[in-house]
Amino acid sequence: MSLITIDCRDAEHLKHEMAVFVADWLEAIPAMKLHEFTLSRFDDDKLDIERVVKAIREFFASIGETANYGVLPSDDVILIKYLHGTPKQPTKQPDSMFACTHCGYVTPYEVLLQNHMRMHYL
Ligand SMILES: [Zn+2]
Repeated sequence: MSLITIDCRDAEHLKHEMAVFVADWLEAIPAMKLHEFTLSRFDDDKLDIERVVKAIREFFASIGETANYGVLPSDDVILIKYLHGTPKQPTKQPDSMFACTHCGYVTPYEVLLQNHMRMHYL
């Protein structure tokens, strides 16, 4: 079974949403770690690292953050690199937050709330 690690220390506050989005896109299983998450497949098919990179770029595009993060693959690890020096820390709440009426999940990104809401209707 192949395993791909995504190193998210520069985008810690987006890690969970990214893992859900990318896993959904690739039909892979995410596993959360301290500063990273891993992806593996249900079957024994090898995950194509290029497709994982593409899915992560799609995630950043969906939240309008494409210009802020680099996606750097090497071997079985993909490094998420913040491109403007010190990573943004979620020290203060963004101006507008979107909350799930079912479970209280909160995110500053409307598109992520929409993705999240789908989960409740499966
Ligand atoms: Zn919810």
